[in-house]
Amino acid sequence: MAAKILVVEDEPAIQELIAFNLKNAGFVVLRAENAEQAMQMLNEMLPDLVLLDWMLPQMSGIEFANILRRESRTKTIPIIMLTARIEENDKIQGLDVGADDYITKPFSPRELVARIKAVLRRRAPELSEEILESDGLRLDPTTRRVMAQGCEIALGPTEFRLLYFLMTHADRVYTRGQLLDRVWGDHVFVEDRTVDVHIRRLRKALEGVGKEKLLQTVRGSGYRFSAESEEKLV
Ligand code: CA
Repeated sequence: MAAKILVVEDEPAIQELIAFNLKNAGFVVLRAENAEQAMQMLNEMLPDLVLLDWMLPQMSGIEFANILRRESRTKTIPIIMLTARIEENDKIQGLDVGADDYITKPFSPRELVARIKAVLRRRAPELSEEILESDGLRLDPTTRRVMAQGCEIALGPTEFRLLYFLMTHADRVYTRGQLLDRVWGDHVFVEDRTVDVHIRRLRKALEGVGKEKLLQTVRGSGYRFSAESEEKLV
């Protein structure tokens, strides 16, 4: 699953350079030249990371980062600030606002890609493409195959994404709203009960190989993937 990066940068040459290098590194790149345009794009979809220039016309990158952190829909999106400023104060201000990292211009494309990957590994492990295994259930993100006891489990695309997310965040409980944000990417047009429908389908598929206990319902809270028995965790 290629990570979607929203690049907010007003200088066309730099925006182009960044987009070129990120595409080469396998990312899907979305571009905006100011905060207002970026905000409109965010209404349509949620990226996996925002690469945000500090010095933008009208609204500054810092103001925009503040808005992203305030809104419940966008507050968990990782942000990397890009800036020509090198003062320590600015760096502190950038991190204060909740940026995950900070890159000073000029930067090498290789460093930029490495920093993005590091932030995504930390904040969105479901994008790392490593094979996951838990209690005999094996998921390969590259081939999109899920196996157990030598059998392939047929899953729809949403069930696959749901399982992938829950396996990369095992033992943690997620509410329906959180799952919509993280798995569907955006919950503007989807209702909470959609999550239940897909969980039910996923559980049914896991039942076929006797692994349904891995997918647990936490009463009043949400769902969790865990190899520990439910009794032990409650
Ligand atoms: Ca700029």
